Amino acid sequence: MRTWKNILQQACPSVAFRANEPLAHHTTVGIGGPAELFCSISTKQDLTAVLQIAIQEKIPITILGWGANTLIADRGITGLVIKNTTNNLKILDQNLTPKDPEQLTARWQAATADTNMPQFQDLDYDEKSAEQVLVEIDSGAALPVLIQKLVRQGITGLQWFTKIPATLGGAVVNNIHGGTHYISEFVESVEVLDASGNKQTLRASQLEFDYDYSRFHHTDEYLLTLRLRLYRGDQERAQAIITKWSRQKQKQPPRSLGCVFQNITAKQQRELALPTPSIGYLVDQELGLAGTKVGDAEISKLHAAFIVNTGRATASEYLAVMRQIHQAVYIKYNVSLKPEIFFKGFTQEELAFLTPL
Ligand SMILES: Cc1cc2nc3c(=O)[nH]c(=O)nc-3n(C[C@H](O)[C@H](O)[C@H](O)COP(=O)(O)OP(=O)(O)OC[C@H]3O[C@@H](n4cnc5c(N)ncnc54)[C@H](O)[C@@H]3O)c2cc1C
Repeated sequence: MRTWKNILQQACPSVAFRANEPLAHHTTVGIGGPAELFCSISTKQDLTAVLQIAIQEKIPITILGWGANTLIADRGITGLVIKNTTNNLKILDQNLTPKDPEQLTARWQAATADTNMPQFQDLDYDEKSAEQVLVEIDSGAALPVLIQKLVRQGITGLQWFTKIPATLGGAVVNNIHGGTHYISEFVESVEVLDASGNKQTLRASQLEFDYDYSRFHHTDEYLLTLRLRLYRGDQERAQAIITKWSRQKQKQPPRSLGCVFQNITAKQQRELALPTPSIGYLVDQELGLAGTKVGDAEISKLHAAFIVNTGRATASEYLAVMRQIHQAVYIKYNVSLKPEIFFKGFTQEELAFLTPL
């Protein structure tokens, strides 16, 4: 029979395809209905082949990294869900001359706005004069493992992203921030498979990086490998940051999806005369919502920008808590919060409350 599973299995015999895989097993928050068809892929060759066949056969594709920023509906996801665990690492060039530092979007304000986290001034330092190293890494590489692997070889730069649950691909899609740094600072170029199944190389300047944003929010492109420009830097200092940072990040509840809404803008903060744009501050100190619960989905009492799964929370419960925060902020401040997470498998109606009014 010509089913999606048979087509894919025949074309890519080295990959195991399973029907009805519960996706709660593949997200940090432990929420998510079944994938119609699921596979876990560990090599770039297999990832490319599976994506190309699925595109050719018009099978809907969802690519998941660590599932640390994705809320999956209780009804699950139609089509193929690929869990990306590709993790090859190549050092391409060790003696790059430093490039001119690019104009970076200031993260400082957003970073220091997080009143639940200690400040960063005592940790930050400038590595730009260090010799640079070009590395090519598969998009499924687990970021915490990658950071350690690189620092052990004296390659630094990514220490700022310690303890962030992510694959490198997921991290670049969302342009993660750690301390005062964005991951986009280190991206030289990426190799993607486009919506027609063709490989393309895109330079960093083409990726539309911004706060929690890149072009991958609006394109049907799949990241295969990424070239990062890192440093032959101070290994001891980087390791010290990893240790200190890990301790600080322990405050963040892991059975969550990170911050669910973006901080308000500096302009909104000024207009509302608030002491900080931090969404955690707003939810906790201004609205007193920390600890609010629907079923097993709860606004964290440790860090009110996070919603945690305290037991067997469903996606509907999680979304209901998001709706409460969104409504409370809108009623008190006339501000429509922007979500900082991705949604898969929901209907437009279910997410309509997030559309700016
Ligand atoms: C405890 C905790 C702490 C966190 N701390 C931080 C923090 O300090 N800073 C921060 O910025 N974020 C933080 N986050 C959020 C999260 O870690 C990041 O957003 C991270 O980028 C998610 O990566 P992922 O691989 O899990 O992506 P996923 O959730 O798996 O995917 C995110 C999106 O990217 C797409 N995607 C994934 N891989 C690819 C690919 N190869 N090609 C194309 N599209 C792809 C997915 O389809 C989805 O739309 C935290 C989350 C948690 C749970």
